[in-house]
Amino acid sequence: MAKPLSVLFCASEVFPFAKTGGLADVAYGLPLALRDLGHDIRVMLPKYGMISERKNRIHEINRLKDIPIPVGSETEHATVKSSSVTNPRTKVQAYMTTNETYFDSKWGLYTDPDTGEAYADNAERFIFFCRTVLDTCHLLGWYPDIVHCNDWHTAIIPALMRTEYKEPFKNTKIVYTIHNIENQGEFPLKSTFEKTGLDEELLSVFKHKNKFNFLKGGLHFADHITTVSPAYGDQLLSDTKMTNGLSTELKKRKEVFTPILNGIDQHTWNPAKDKLIKKKYSADKLDLKEDNKEAMLNEFGLSAEEGVPAIAMISRLVEHKGLGLVVEAAERLLEKDVQLVILGEGNPSFEKALKDLAAEYPDRVGVEIGFNEQLAHLMEAGADIFLMPSLHEPCGLNQMYSLAYGTVPVVRATGGLGDTISEFDPESGEGLGFRFDDYTADAMLEAIERAMNVYRNKESWEKLQVNGMEKDYTWLRSAAEYEEVYRNL
Ligand code: ADP
Repeated sequence: MAKPLSVLFCASEVFPFAKTGGLADVAYGLPLALRDLGHDIRVMLPKYGMISERKNRIHEINRLKDIPIPVGSETEHATVKSSSVTNPRTKVQAYMTTNETYFDSKWGLYTDPDTGEAYADNAERFIFFCRTVLDTCHLLGWYPDIVHCNDWHTAIIPALMRTEYKEPFKNTKIVYTIHNIENQGEFPLKSTFEKTGLDEELLSVFKHKNKFNFLKGGLHFADHITTVSPAYGDQLLSDTKMTNGLSTELKKRKEVFTPILNGIDQHTWNPAKDKLIKKKYSADKLDLKEDNKEAMLNEFGLSAEEGVPAIAMISRLVEHKGLGLVVEAAERLLEKDVQLVILGEGNPSFEKALKDLAAEYPDRVGVEIGFNEQLAHLMEAGADIFLMPSLHEPCGLNQMYSLAYGTVPVVRATGGLGDTISEFDPESGEGLGFRFDDYTADAMLEAIERAMNVYRNKESWEKLQVNGMEKDYTWLRSAAEYEEVYRNL
């Protein structure tokens, strides 16, 4: 057997400690799956105010107290604490950077929950985090084979590893994963660069459109770059508008660029074991889904109606998740015999439009504004149809969760949604859901209509549900692809 690898996985969010989206689920499931493959993998994240020390059994490590960290001309102090990421079978060591100013006193990850505004010192916060990651390795005397960075928040790590920290990390390779190109970490050029403490000559590496661009610098120094689905990989290389011009940078690194589809954690997202749903079930007990449907509709103040499908959405309420389309098409959608339940938070104008819709259709529409992990599980279990009409979707996880729960996805075929969901053919009984290409209300409503036609035929619908439940989109497969990337380095 090949020798196990040592890997440090760095991310700004890791489930269950802190989560705003799919990155947290990846930073949970992938390390656990790599641990199952025998590797010494550890994760590191900031300890935001919202993370409870008691609940997460976070404790101090003697060697990692009061570490001086330079941020620009100032010196801040980090105390790195320890916890673990677990599923019922496996455990992974987690390190958390604490600092009163940057993290503990701030409840949110990136934005202040009271004002909805991004924290003014976000650039500094994550520069500080990046430095802490490397000093932690140094103090532990642990220089892993691979440092795996994710999104802009970790993008200073590669540059530091190849300059200031060159010697101790000379045998360490850097993998960098783009989860979402939309957020590149753009800040004022000069003042941000000064905070990094990097050598003057690296300014051009981080400079993009006259701003400091974290992501650009991360890509430059990475030994290998990955992204989260093949179709999104193609888009990143070609769609300069979507990438804010970074396609050019990525094309330069094409030889070391590999798309790997995300997976799902089969212990967390499994209707046969899920403690957060009303009734556990599996493919041979699909009728128990009805109990979950009833419980879900109850949560939204709705009651189940015979033969009426419940359509669910769980999403950040932003344009690129297709919220504009949903709001535009809502009246026409509700002319059909459906119920609609939506959980999400984000853009205040979408929040208001959805709340207005729920007020207008009190028996048909339920809207919950906020982040609610438990309700998300219940919705996956209780809904008949799961809607993801995204404008862009790097990978998307909910369509895969939906498959596992026998909930039928209706998706716009973009990025990972197109890679994972094939159109159901009632004749052959093959396929996983319903897809549409044009980003228009008409195309979306037609796909929903196709889903409803199959829904009316119980036998066909069950076949479709079982197809999804039998599909293997778990991390086991994708983790092996990451392992190969690591080994090739
Ligand atoms: P993204 O990372 O772009 O937001 P993904 O589909 O990759 O989209 O992942 C989103 C993850 O966040 C899923 O696990 C989804 O269930 C979860 N999620 C999004 N919004 C909410 C919410 N309001 N409450 C609970 N979970 C949510």
